[in-house]
Amino acid sequence: MTVTRITLVEGDITEQQVDAVVNAANSSLLGGGGVDGAIHRKGGPQILEECRRLRAGHYGKGLSTGHALATTAGRLPARWVIHTVGPVHRAEEYDKKAEQLASCYRESLRVAVELGARTVAFPAVSAGVYGWPLEDAARIALRTVAAARSGPARELAEVRFVLFGTEAYLAFEREWRVLGLDGDRP
Ligand code: ADP
Repeated sequence: MTVTRITLVEGDITEQQVDAVVNAANSSLLGGGGVDGAIHRKGGPQILEECRRLRAGHYGKGLSTGHALATTAGRLPARWVIHTVGPVHRAEEYDKKAEQLASCYRESLRVAVELGARTVAFPAVSAGVYGWPLEDAARIALRTVAAARSGPARELAEVRFVLFGTEAYLAFEREWRVLGLDGDRP
């Protein structure tokens, strides 16, 4: 049986040659800073055009937190961008927000499988402007994806986390080792 590999790289998600790249979008779907800004800049105007069409149709109110949808990847070296909206970190509502963050990963994987993707790259959703502490963001991300391997994500060959900067990479690497995922190294 082939197992979905969970891999880590330090780098820029816009340069990944994968089938689907996940964007930490905001609910407007109309672009923002951080990884969202980088994806739209590199991917070109086609992505935003498709997002605008979605806003004019089924997604009149935008995309809710914890959900995911796909568009073209424009000029990126990927076929699709899967947009998901992470929660803003709030200690007072931790359980609810953590569940929403886990949902971002589950829903993005579900969309990826629906598209027929084999390889998917994720950023550290919510760990930038949305303020989620890195260690905990890594824990939720890796545990959720590891759990999905025996379910919906079974169809995928690789789920790659693309971490921007050494601090993010090391936070993910620690948790990745704790979970015994380092056996996944290619
Ligand atoms: P959020 O609003 O969900 O917090 P951000 O884009 O602000 O989203 O940050 C999410 C994570 O993505 C952060 O760890 C940030 O450092 C990282 N990031 C920013 N640009 C890139 C990029 N080009 N590739 C991969 N990760 C990126």
